[in-house]
Amino acid sequence: MITPTELISRARSAGRAALDEPSGKALLAAYGIAVPRSVVVAGAAEVNGELARLKAPFVVKVISTDILHKSDAGGVKVNLRTTTEAADAIRAMMRQPAIAEARIDGFLVEEMAPAGQEMVIGGLRDAHFGPLVMVGLGGIFVEVLADVAFRICPITPLDAEEMLAELKGAAILDGARGKKPLPKAAIIDTLLKMGGAGGLLMRHAADIKETDINPLIVSETGAVAVDARFILT
Ligand code: ADP
Ligand code: MG
Repeated sequence: MITPTELISRARSAGRAALDEPSGKALLAAYGIAVPRSVVVAGAAEVNGELARLKAPFVVKVISTDILHKSDAGGVKVNLRTTTEAADAIRAMMRQPAIAEARIDGFLVEEMAPAGQEMVIGGLRDAHFGPLVMVGLGGIFVEVLADVAFRICPITPLDAEEMLAELKGAAILDGARGKKPLPKAAIIDTLLKMGGAGGLLMRHAADIKETDINPLIVSETGAVAVDARFILT
Protein backbone atom coordinates (compact mmCIF):
# COMPACT_ATOMS: atom_id res chain seq x y z
CA MET A 1 0.00 0.00 0.00
CA ILE A 2 1.14 3.50 -0.82
CA THR A 3 2.21 5.57 2.20
CA PRO A 4 0.80 9.04 2.98
CA THR A 5 4.16 10.64 2.26
CA GLU A 6 4.32 8.90 -1.14
CA LEU A 7 0.77 10.06 -1.97
CA ILE A 8 1.83 13.65 -1.41
CA SER A 9 5.18 13.41 -3.18
CA ARG A 10 3.58 11.71 -6.20
CA ALA A 11 1.11 14.59 -6.53
CA ARG A 12 3.96 17.10 -6.26
CA SER A 13 6.11 15.39 -8.85
CA ALA A 14 3.11 15.32 -11.21
CA GLY A 15 3.02 19.11 -10.79
CA ARG A 16 -0.26 19.11 -8.90
CA ALA A 17 -1.21 21.74 -6.31
CA ALA A 18 -3.82 19.46 -4.79
CA LEU A 19 -4.55 15.78 -4.23
CA ASP A 20 -7.23 14.27 -6.44
CA GLU A 21 -10.22 12.75 -4.64
CA PRO A 22 -9.01 9.12 -4.68
CA SER A 23 -5.60 10.19 -3.28
CA GLY A 24 -7.24 12.43 -0.69
CA LYS A 25 -9.42 9.56 0.45
CA ALA A 26 -6.45 7.19 0.55
CA LEU A 27 -4.71 9.72 2.82
CA LEU A 28 -7.77 9.85 5.12
CA ALA A 29 -7.98 6.05 5.16
CA ALA A 30 -4.29 5.84 6.13
CA TYR A 31 -5.25 7.75 9.28
CA GLY A 32 -8.14 5.42 10.03
CA ILE A 33 -10.94 7.68 8.76
CA ALA A 34 -13.75 5.74 7.07
CA VAL A 35 -14.20 6.39 3.34
CA PRO A 36 -16.53 4.60 0.89
CA ARG A 37 -15.16 1.52 -0.88
CA SER A 38 -14.38 2.57 -4.43
CA VAL A 39 -12.78 1.85 -7.78
CA VAL A 40 -11.38 4.23 -10.38
CA VAL A 41 -12.29 3.55 -14.01
CA ALA A 42 -11.17 5.27 -17.20
CA GLY A 43 -14.61 5.13 -18.78
CA ALA A 44 -17.99 3.43 -19.01
CA ALA A 45 -16.59 0.33 -20.73
CA GLU A 46 -14.56 -0.62 -17.63
CA VAL A 47 -17.49 -0.50 -15.25
CA ASN A 48 -18.73 -4.07 -15.59
CA GLY A 49 -15.56 -5.85 -14.54
CA GLU A 50 -14.50 -3.41 -11.85
CA LEU A 51 -17.76 -2.97 -9.98
CA ALA A 52 -18.09 -6.61 -8.95
CA ARG A 53 -16.26 -5.78 -5.70
CA LEU A 54 -18.66 -3.00 -4.70
CA LYS A 55 -22.13 -3.12 -3.25
CA ALA A 56 -24.94 -1.08 -4.86
CA PRO A 57 -26.17 1.62 -4.72
CA PHE A 58 -23.20 3.38 -6.32
CA VAL A 59 -22.06 6.97 -6.73
CA VAL A 60 -20.15 8.10 -9.83
CA LYS A 61 -17.89 11.18 -9.75
CA VAL A 62 -15.67 12.80 -12.32
CA ILE A 63 -11.96 13.07 -11.43
CA SER A 64 -10.40 16.19 -12.93
CA THR A 65 -8.00 18.86 -11.67
CA ASP A 66 -9.97 21.32 -13.81
CA ILE A 67 -13.17 20.74 -11.84
CA LEU A 68 -13.32 21.99 -8.26
CA HIS A 69 -17.05 21.67 -7.57
CA LYS A 70 -18.06 18.41 -9.17
CA SER A 71 -21.82 18.78 -8.59
CA ASP A 72 -21.89 22.21 -10.25
CA ALA A 73 -20.26 20.66 -13.33
CA GLY A 74 -22.75 17.77 -13.43
CA GLY A 75 -19.99 15.48 -12.22
CA VAL A 76 -21.72 13.66 -9.36
CA LYS A 77 -24.49 11.09 -9.69
CA VAL A 78 -25.78 9.30 -6.60
CA ASN A 79 -28.16 6.39 -6.00
CA LEU A 80 -27.20 4.30 -9.02
CA ARG A 81 -28.72 0.87 -8.50
CA THR A 82 -26.90 -1.25 -11.09
CA THR A 83 -23.64 -1.39 -13.03
CA THR A 84 -25.62 -0.43 -16.14
CA GLU A 85 -26.87 2.72 -14.42
CA ALA A 86 -23.29 3.52 -13.34
CA ALA A 87 -21.99 3.09 -16.90
CA ASP A 88 -24.82 5.24 -18.27
CA ALA A 89 -24.07 7.92 -15.69
CA ILE A 90 -20.44 8.08 -16.88
CA ARG A 91 -21.55 8.39 -20.52
CA ALA A 92 -24.00 11.16 -19.62
CA MET A 93 -21.32 12.95 -17.59
CA MET A 94 -18.90 12.95 -20.50
CA ARG A 95 -21.48 14.91 -22.48
CA GLN A 96 -21.79 17.67 -19.85
CA PRO A 97 -20.18 20.83 -21.32
CA ALA A 98 -17.94 21.57 -18.29
CA ILE A 99 -16.72 17.96 -18.30
CA ALA A 100 -16.38 17.57 -22.06
CA GLU A 101 -13.87 20.42 -22.14
CA ALA A 102 -11.94 19.41 -18.98
CA ARG A 103 -8.91 17.14 -18.68
CA ILE A 104 -10.36 13.97 -17.17
CA ASP A 105 -8.27 11.60 -15.03
CA GLY A 106 -11.04 9.03 -14.80
CA PHE A 107 -14.20 8.38 -12.85
CA LEU A 108 -14.52 7.39 -9.22
CA VAL A 109 -17.22 4.81 -8.60
CA GLU A 110 -17.97 4.31 -4.92
CA GLU A 111 -20.52 2.89 -2.54
CA MET A 112 -23.21 5.15 -1.10
CA ALA A 113 -22.69 6.00 2.55
CA PRO A 114 -25.71 5.34 4.77
CA ALA A 115 -27.97 8.42 4.89
CA GLY A 116 -27.29 10.77 7.78
CA GLN A 117 -26.38 14.28 8.89
CA GLU A 118 -23.83 15.96 6.63
CA MET A 119 -20.99 17.65 8.51
CA VAL A 120 -17.80 19.40 7.48
CA ILE A 121 -14.34 18.95 8.94
CA GLY A 122 -11.66 21.29 7.69
CA GLY A 123 -8.05 22.09 8.27
CA LEU A 124 -5.81 24.99 7.42
CA ARG A 125 -2.39 26.30 8.22
CA ASP A 126 -1.99 29.55 10.06
CA ALA A 127 1.31 31.38 9.67
CA HIS A 128 1.60 31.89 13.45
CA PHE A 129 -0.31 29.02 15.03
CA GLY A 130 0.35 26.20 12.56
CA PRO A 131 -2.42 23.73 11.72
CA LEU A 132 -5.99 24.57 12.75
CA VAL A 133 -8.94 22.18 12.65
CA MET A 134 -12.54 23.17 12.02
CA VAL A 135 -15.91 21.46 12.33
CA GLY A 136 -19.42 22.47 11.34
CA LEU A 137 -22.77 21.04 10.40
CA GLY A 138 -23.09 20.71 6.63
CA GLY A 139 -24.93 22.72 4.01
CA ILE A 140 -26.51 26.03 5.08
CA PHE A 141 -25.03 25.80 8.59
CA VAL A 142 -21.55 26.23 7.16
CA GLU A 143 -22.24 28.15 3.95
CA VAL A 144 -24.92 30.61 5.11
CA LEU A 145 -24.72 30.72 8.90
CA ALA A 146 -20.94 30.18 9.19
CA ASP A 147 -21.72 28.03 12.24
CA VAL A 148 -18.28 26.50 12.71
CA ALA A 149 -15.81 25.90 15.54
CA PHE A 150 -12.01 26.21 15.20
CA ARG A 151 -9.12 25.04 17.39
CA ILE A 152 -5.36 25.13 17.14
CA CYS A 153 -3.89 21.63 16.70
CA PRO A 154 -3.22 19.32 18.37
CA ILE A 155 -6.65 18.98 19.96
CA THR A 156 -7.59 16.69 22.86
CA PRO A 157 -10.79 14.62 23.12
CA LEU A 158 -12.20 17.33 25.41
CA ASP A 159 -11.41 20.03 22.83
CA ALA A 160 -13.25 17.99 20.18
CA GLU A 161 -16.26 17.59 22.45
CA GLU A 162 -16.31 21.33 23.20
CA MET A 163 -16.06 22.17 19.50
CA LEU A 164 -19.27 20.23 18.86
CA ALA A 165 -20.98 21.75 21.91
CA GLU A 166 -20.28 25.31 20.78
CA LEU A 167 -22.00 24.91 17.40
CA LYS A 168 -25.27 26.83 17.31
CA GLY A 169 -26.84 23.83 15.62
CA ALA A 170 -25.48 21.43 18.25
CA ALA A 171 -29.02 20.31 19.14
CA ILE A 172 -29.21 18.58 15.76
CA LEU A 173 -26.59 16.11 16.95
CA ASP A 174 -28.76 15.27 19.94
CA GLY A 175 -31.62 14.31 17.63
CA ALA A 176 -33.73 17.39 16.97
CA ARG A 177 -37.18 17.10 15.40
CA GLY A 178 -37.82 13.49 16.30
CA LYS A 179 -34.62 12.21 14.71
CA LYS A 180 -32.31 9.75 16.45
CA PRO A 181 -29.27 11.20 18.22
CA LEU A 182 -26.04 10.93 16.22
CA PRO A 183 -22.95 9.18 17.54
CA LYS A 184 -20.84 12.14 18.73
CA ALA A 185 -18.06 9.69 19.55
CA ALA A 186 -17.65 8.96 15.82
CA ILE A 187 -17.35 12.68 15.00
CA ILE A 188 -14.92 13.27 17.86
CA ASP A 189 -12.87 10.29 16.71
CA THR A 190 -12.66 11.73 13.18
CA LEU A 191 -11.73 15.18 14.54
CA LEU A 192 -8.88 13.61 16.55
CA LYS A 193 -7.63 11.59 13.60
CA MET A 194 -7.43 14.89 11.71
CA GLY A 195 -6.38 17.38 14.37
CA GLY A 196 -5.18 15.37 17.35
CA ALA A 197 -1.57 14.74 18.39
CA GLY A 198 -0.19 12.38 15.74
CA GLY A 199 -3.19 13.19 13.52
CA LEU A 200 -3.08 13.89 9.82
CA LEU A 201 -2.86 17.69 10.12
CA MET A 202 0.04 17.55 12.60
CA ARG A 203 1.97 14.89 10.71
CA HIS A 204 1.66 16.66 7.37
CA ALA A 205 1.69 20.24 8.60
CA ALA A 206 4.47 21.17 6.17
CA ASP A 207 2.57 19.86 3.13
CA ILE A 208 -1.10 20.69 3.73
CA LYS A 209 -2.16 24.25 3.11
CA GLU A 210 -5.87 23.62 3.35
CA THR A 211 -8.18 20.64 3.52
CA ASP A 212 -11.81 19.80 3.87
CA ILE A 213 -13.95 16.76 4.24
CA ASN A 214 -17.22 18.04 2.84
CA PRO A 215 -19.31 16.17 3.64
CA LEU A 216 -18.61 13.77 6.43
CA ILE A 217 -21.86 11.79 6.59
CA VAL A 218 -22.77 10.87 10.15
CA SER A 219 -25.40 8.22 10.85
CA GLU A 220 -26.10 5.65 13.53
CA THR A 221 -23.56 3.42 11.78
CA GLY A 222 -20.71 5.94 12.14
CA ALA A 223 -19.01 8.74 10.20
CA VAL A 224 -17.91 8.40 6.56
CA ALA A 225 -15.84 10.96 4.62
CA VAL A 226 -17.50 11.03 1.18
CA ASP A 227 -15.55 13.97 -0.30
CA ALA A 228 -11.98 15.05 0.39
CA ARG A 229 -10.01 18.03 -0.83
CA PHE A 230 -6.35 18.63 0.02
CA ILE A 231 -4.53 21.74 -1.20
CA LEU A 232 -0.76 21.42 -0.88
CA THR A 233 1.62 24.12 0.34
P1 ADP B 1 -18.69 18.21 -4.81
O1 ADP B 1 -18.58 18.77 -3.42
O2 ADP B 1 -17.39 18.34 -5.55
O3 ADP B 1 -19.82 18.77 -5.58
P2 ADP B 1 -19.18 15.60 -3.50
O4 ADP B 1 -18.22 14.50 -3.68
O5 ADP B 1 -19.18 16.31 -2.19
O6 ADP B 1 -18.95 16.63 -4.72
O7 ADP B 1 -20.64 15.06 -3.81
C1 ADP B 1 -21.77 15.91 -3.79
C2 ADP B 1 -22.81 15.40 -2.81
O8 ADP B 1 -23.22 14.08 -3.18
C3 ADP B 1 -22.30 15.26 -1.38
O9 ADP B 1 -22.41 16.47 -0.68
C4 ADP B 1 -23.22 14.18 -0.82
O10 ADP B 1 -24.47 14.74 -0.44
C5 ADP B 1 -23.45 13.30 -2.02
N1 ADP B 1 -22.50 12.16 -2.04
C6 ADP B 1 -21.31 12.12 -2.66
N2 ADP B 1 -20.69 10.94 -2.47
C7 ADP B 1 -21.52 10.21 -1.71
C8 ADP B 1 -21.46 8.88 -1.15
N3 ADP B 1 -20.43 8.06 -1.37
N4 ADP B 1 -22.51 8.46 -0.40
C9 ADP B 1 -23.57 9.25 -0.17
N5 ADP B 1 -23.69 10.51 -0.66
C10 ADP B 1 -22.68 10.99 -1.42
MG1 MG C 1 -18.19 18.02 -1.57
